[in-house]
Amino acid sequence: MRYGGNTTCVEVRCGRDIIILDAGTGLRKLGIALLDEFKRRPLNLSLLLSHTHWDHIQGLPFFAPIYESRCRLRILGCEGARKSLVTALTGQMESTYFPVPFSRLPSNIEIEELKDFSFTIGPVLVRALRANHPGVTVGYRLFSPDGIICFFPDTEPRQGGDDREMLDFIRDADVLILDSQYDRAEYQTHTGWGHGCLDESVALALRAGVKKLVLFHHDPDHDDKKIDAFVKYARKLVTKARAKMKIEAAREGMVLKLGGL
Ligand SMILES: [Zn+2]
Ligand SMILES: [Zn+2]
Repeated sequence: MRYGGNTTCVEVRCGRDIIILDAGTGLRKLGIALLDEFKRRPLNLSLLLSHTHWDHIQGLPFFAPIYESRCRLRILGCEGARKSLVTALTGQMESTYFPVPFSRLPSNIEIEELKDFSFTIGPVLVRALRANHPGVTVGYRLFSPDGIICFFPDTEPRQGGDDREMLDFIRDADVLILDSQYDRAEYQTHTGWGHGCLDESVALALRAGVKKLVLFHHDPDHDDKKIDAFVKYARKLVTKARAKMKIEAAREGMVLKLGGL
């Protein structure tokens, strides 16, 4: 209840640019907040998708700004594992699943498949890297004038943080939002599922010199007490390594200010 039960959705603000990372069920509340803040003013939004698994796209039909003609939404992501990105996103709004078809939305929505793994959104340079997760999944690195955010909601870090390409990609990030779904015991029965073991996530972030690690993609069966224990355990690992990396578990409504960590 304290950490929240919605699925992946992170908002990044850089000057006037608004970048949304993933469209999980958390997107519904974000939509209400954005309309409340912008009132009648136009809304220009960019949405970066890590992949098209349900928990990362299901908020889209419930995102209030797409029902407003003053909203422009640019969606970028990789193709669905078997279908195009357009088919994967619009398919969930077909009449079998949802009353309003995608084609009837009054907002201006552009869906683009990532061809180039390096691009810009306003002043933010974005790079993408394939994650270790079933299907076509990526993580993002956002270079803003205020700092670097890396976002890997779904990935299975390799044992001991030993992954050269990933290490280079997340190196020196100010904030790393990383899949840390399982503890060591749970991981034994979920190896190869594409989600992180807390020990491996901390090891990877430590090796990469990350300043703040945000534990992410909480297991639906974990409660606040369990996630509190994850944070405590992860902080112990950092102390043991004589490092200074900060640890927090993602929670709904949490705000991080780059430059003021
Ligand atoms: Zn997934
Ligand atoms: Zn997921």
